[in-house]
Amino acid sequence: MRVQGLISPALLLGLLIYSGLCGATWFEDNQGIMGTNIHVELWSESTQQGEEAVQAVMFEMERINQLMSPYIKNSELSQLNTHAAEGAVPVSKELFRLIALSVELAKETDGAFDITFASVGYLYNYREGQKPEQGKIEELLKAIDYRHIKFDRAQHSIFFAHPNVKIDLGGIAKGHAVDNAVDILKKRGIKHALVTAGGDTKLLGDRLGKPWMVGIRDPRNQDKQAVVLPLADTALSTSGDYERYFEQDGVRYHHILSPKTGSSAYEVQSVSIIGQRSTLNDALSTAVFVLGVNKGMDLLNRTPGYDGIIVDNQRKLHYSNALKE
Ligand code: ADP
Ligand code: MG
Repeated sequence: MRVQGLISPALLLGLLIYSGLCGATWFEDNQGIMGTNIHVELWSESTQQGEEAVQAVMFEMERINQLMSPYIKNSELSQLNTHAAEGAVPVSKELFRLIALSVELAKETDGAFDITFASVGYLYNYREGQKPEQGKIEELLKAIDYRHIKFDRAQHSIFFAHPNVKIDLGGIAKGHAVDNAVDILKKRGIKHALVTAGGDTKLLGDRLGKPWMVGIRDPRNQDKQAVVLPLADTALSTSGDYERYFEQDGVRYHHILSPKTGSSAYEVQSVSIIGQRSTLNDALSTAVFVLGVNKGMDLLNRTPGYDGIIVDNQRKLHYSNALKE
């Protein structure tokens, strides 16, 4: 009875008209695309606009998957990996730009983010618990070097200057997809939305007068949050050693590899980056993971507009300077 008394009939009627009769409400969907969970939540005043906007996001995710998946044999990325060591391969503007940006980021992160990690990385199968022999890693390690990727800007073509180079955009493509998705929502007139692809989240506006509450999970307990951040109009990416891994003889083999060793990076358990561009958050979270606490924080503290939270391998939290203020 007391609960009922909290809402006056006039307010109740107002709420009904606002959320029901006008069709203004939250629209939500989850789908498995790009080997991960895609989650969309958005506010729209009309059912048609809301439903179409959610669909447009899923469509964009699938489009990027078809273009950049290493598991789809005729994706542009796969074609590049198959042929670019034989001769220059012309690629779409979008793929060319993302690969060029990846190489820029390799330079800025001292090679910690390097899409040629895949020259060794493709031999790991985390689902099947398979890893390459140490001898094989050493043999292929020379192929890991972003300098092997040669660009012809006039022709929009790419050439690999080493026979064993393979590239993989798993550390940046989801961030790119999330940025694109939010641009699509903006163009459709959406003002409040959350788009997540695996560890990459972007917020458009707030959650109707309140911030979005975005959690960074405890790397060793998926039901617990290590930190919850109130965010609006920004983006956050997390890279963790729990996303794809297997254990063998007490060692955790996970999907973030040090380009120097061709093996998993061990200094930290997770890295979260907050910044405007999801594409950069995604790549930086992977880079800082590889760099570890000291070098990773140095990188963040000299990168304006990008901040981070690291959970190190002793489960200790570290914050970049701007977050400490
Ligand atoms: P996820 O959301 O899949 O956990 P992350 O941002 O943590 O993505 O990136 C992990 C992915 O990045 C790996 O699955 C792999 O495709 C790619 N990757 C792993 N190591 C590197 C590296 N050193 N440089 C660039 N990309 C990497
Ligand atoms: Mg990443």
